[in-house]
Amino acid sequence: MTELTKLTLAEALDGLKAKTFSSREITQDFIQAIEGARVLNAYVVETPEKALAMADTADARIAKGEGGKLEGAPLGIKDLYCTKGVRTTACSGILGEFTPTYESTVTQNLWDAGAVMLGKLNMDEFAMGSSNETSHFGNVINPWRRTGDNQGLTPGGSSGGSASSVAANLCLAATASDTGGSIRQPAAFTGTVGIKPTYGRASRYGMVAFASSLDQAGPIAKTVEDSAILLDVMCSHDPKDSTSLNVDTPDWRGDVAKGVKGMRIGIPKEYRIDGLSDEMNALWDQGIAWLKAAGAEIVEISLPHTKYALPAYYIVAPAEASSNLARYDGMRYGARVSGDNLTETYEATRASGFGREVQRRLMIGTYVLSSGYYDAYYLRAQKVRTKILNDFVEAFEGCDAILTPTCPSPAFAFGEKSGDPVEMYLNDVFTVTANLAGLPGISVPAGLSSTGLPLGLQVIGKALDETACFRVGGELERAAGFVAKPEKWW
Ligand code: GLN
Repeated sequence: MTELTKLTLAEALDGLKAKTFSSREITQDFIQAIEGARVLNAYVVETPEKALAMADTADARIAKGEGGKLEGAPLGIKDLYCTKGVRTTACSGILGEFTPTYESTVTQNLWDAGAVMLGKLNMDEFAMGSSNETSHFGNVINPWRRTGDNQGLTPGGSSGGSASSVAANLCLAATASDTGGSIRQPAAFTGTVGIKPTYGRASRYGMVAFASSLDQAGPIAKTVEDSAILLDVMCSHDPKDSTSLNVDTPDWRGDVAKGVKGMRIGIPKEYRIDGLSDEMNALWDQGIAWLKAAGAEIVEISLPHTKYALPAYYIVAPAEASSNLARYDGMRYGARVSGDNLTETYEATRASGFGREVQRRLMIGTYVLSSGYYDAYYLRAQKVRTKILNDFVEAFEGCDAILTPTCPSPAFAFGEKSGDPVEMYLNDVFTVTANLAGLPGISVPAGLSSTGLPLGLQVIGKALDETACFRVGGELERAAGFVAKPEKWW
C-alpha cells in the first residue's frame, strides 16, 4: 500500500474523494510521522486531537457527497497565522503563551474548504531571517543533507518549518509568508515549490505583522499544481484588510499544464551577480534552454536598479517592523517582565522578549525613521522602491514573465552565515525585488547541486498575473523532472 504521507495534495484529494482512504487515516499517519520527526523541530505546536476531530467532520461530509476544495487534507500552518484557541507566537519569546481569540482570514478560508490542521510550524522570530536560526524555539533542521556529510543544514527562512515539513512529508502542504523571500528561498533550499502571490491577493488579517507593505501569504507545497490548489483557497477579498484586492481568482490549477508556447521570457542581465555560484548560473542557463525548447521566446531585459534593492529592503522592512512591533509592550499580549515603573516594564519586557536579530532590526528601523535621518534613509529607500517598480513595468513591456535563480547558492550549514548579518541578507538578493514591487513570484526545484542539494529557479510575473508564474513554473517542473527526495535519516 502507498504511504499516504508521500502523496501530493492533488493525489490525496482524489483518494479522499474516491474514499480510497479516509481523512482520519491520512491524518493519523501524519500525526505519527510528526511524532517520529521531532528532531527536525518543524512543528512548535502539535494539535493531534483537533486534527482528528476535523478529520472526522471531513469524513462525514465526504460520506454525504459534500465537501470543499480541500476536504480532509491535513496541512501545517506557519506560526505567523492567528489560530483561534491555539498558541500563536510568531516564534517570539515576547508573545509568551499568547492564544488568539480569533482566526486569520487565510486559515479560516482553509477550514471553510475542509482542510485539517496538524499544528503550528516553526519560523524565524517575527519572520525575520533567512535560515530559521532566530526562532525562540530553536533551529529547524533541513531534511536534506550534503552527499556523504551529516552536518545539519538550515532549511532557509523564515518559513523553514513550512519547508522542512513539506519536504519531510509531515503535512501535505503548508501555509507560509513572504516579506522578502520567506516562501521562495526555503522552498528552493528544500526541493519544494513556493509561491508569493501579488501583494493584496491574500488577506493579511490575523497574520502577525512584520512589514505590512511587503508581507504576503502563500503556500509551500510538493508540486506546482499543489501550490496552485492551495493558493486558490488562501486568496480572497477581505474587508478586514484595507490592502486586500477585490479581484477574481483564475483557474491557476488549469494553468500549470498550459505550457509556454509563444510566451516571452525575460532574462535580467543585472541578476548575473558575482556571488552567484557557477552551478546556479549553469542551472539558470539550463532553465532558459528548457523554456526555449518548449516554444518560448527568450529576451534579454534590464532591471537597472537591482543593486539598490537589497539596501532599500533592509531599510523599508525594519522601518515598518519598528512601527508594527511597538505594540509588544508587555501590557497587551504575552510575556511581561515587570520593572519599578511603566517605562522600566516596557524596557525590561522588550529587552528580554525580543531576540537579537529582532532587536537589531528595531534599532535600524527606529534610526532610519528618526528626524534628521528620515530623509536620508527611509525617504530615499522609498524612492528606490518606486524606481524598482518602474524597472519591472518597463521590462514587462517586452516580456510576459521573468526567469531568475531563487537564491545565489544551495542550503548552508548552521552558523555558516549567522555571524555576519550582511552575508545573511545577501541570500535575499533575487527575492526582495518582487516584494518591493508587489509582484508574484514562484520558486520551482530544477536541479541538484554537486553536493546533492536542491536548487530552485524563480519566475516573476506581472501584477495579478500568477497565471504566468504557474505556466512557466509548470513547464520548468516538467522539463526538470525533479523527483529527488531527502534520504530519511530522522
Ligand atoms: N530573509 C528576509 C528577512 O530576513 C525575508 C524574510 C521574510 O520574507 N519574511 O527579512
